[in-house]
Amino acid sequence: MTSHLIPSYAPPDLVFERGEGVWLYDAQGKAWLDFIAGIAVDALGHCHPALVAALESQAHKLWHVSNMFKVPMREELAARYCEGSFADLVFFTNSGTEAIEGALKAARKYHADNGEEERIEIVTFQGAFHGRSYGAINAGGNPAYLKGFGPRLPGYTQIPFADEAAARAAITGNTAAVLIEPVQGEGGLRAAPDAFLRLLRQLCDETGALLIYDEIQCGAGRTGKLFAYEWSGAAPDIMTVAKGVGGGFPLGAWMTTQEVGEHMTVGTHGSTYGGNPLAMAVGIALWDEITRPGFLDHVVHMGQFLKQQMAGLADTYPGMIAEVRGKGLLTGFKLHEQYNNRAVMALARERGLLTGAAGDNVLRMAPPLIITEDHARQAIETLDAALAAARAQG
Ligand SMILES: *Cc1c(COP(=O)(O)O)cnc(C)c1O
Repeated sequence: MTSHLIPSYAPPDLVFERGEGVWLYDAQGKAWLDFIAGIAVDALGHCHPALVAALESQAHKLWHVSNMFKVPMREELAARYCEGSFADLVFFTNSGTEAIEGALKAARKYHADNGEEERIEIVTFQGAFHGRSYGAINAGGNPAYLKGFGPRLPGYTQIPFADEAAARAAITGNTAAVLIEPVQGEGGLRAAPDAFLRLLRQLCDETGALLIYDEIQCGAGRTGKLFAYEWSGAAPDIMTVAKGVGGGFPLGAWMTTQEVGEHMTVGTHGSTYGGNPLAMAVGIALWDEITRPGFLDHVVHMGQFLKQQMAGLADTYPGMIAEVRGKGLLTGFKLHEQYNNRAVMALARERGLLTGAAGDNVLRMAPPLIITEDHARQAIETLDAALAAARAQG
């Protein structure tokens, strides 16, 4: 059958009919253990009862009125984000890319309003991924994502990840903002050392640049803190979230301090769907689950458990696994170059385990945060079999 979809994706020949918790099922009832969770999105697994209830009940009340009218749930969810972070003000979006655009605009607007209209330079890091809009691909700097889409936008500088000397040289009085994922997702699961984030905070303070964290993948409890930056103690000026905060419903946000956010006055920015009542209902229910006492302790424990198991795999396959990467439940391993991450991912999928690929030949796992030790053991057993099969193939 010919497809009428733009051919920008090449999914395997596999259709899931329903999901429950950590499991996905096809129409024949065959089950897959889902350790990629819609790319770190299904934070509570599939069809979590609290999210289903929130969405269902809201669906009977009100779907959409736009930002022309007040939606009290926006205030409720924004208050939760601010209570759980450095932020004072929140703007809701529908996706991560849209949150990045808002964050970049807010950074430039802050400097423009402070009499530095020319201060537009955004410093980003090699291996970054910030989304697919023009602003986001220019910030991400990945040549494969930029090629064919016209000239580079002015005002983006990219430096090596976690390189202190490069950061010192690049962050100057011309820098509007530094944009970094505390744990790189698509780029290969590299976690920025805590000391590096603290250095960025210091350099931004010294130069007047703003620090933006992209926590679209590593936020929402995935590393065992609500936000990954908390491990370092270095708070940003602006932060983006999406993916996990919606638990599968399209929801994102950028949030910031009073000092920065107050410049985004009426007419400066907008979004038709942003803060839609359905998204707010689900976002509130999700937030209340991940902030329950003990929830993040479970994530920390499971992250450590999975890491130990992966260290075991790395011992079994020293010629294949080059390095265990990531933080908390955003984790995986880099393969030596004679092996291909996507090939191992396919072999695992054939054996009932769903994982993802990331840059730098990394096999990525971002399971629902509710996994148990049994799920982790089963995933590792399947990866063991997939690695053995890849090695046998040579
Ligand atoms: C996924 C992702 C984005 C883009 O989010 P979309 O919802 O796909 O637009 C941006 N930054 C990071 C770190 C991401 O993981």
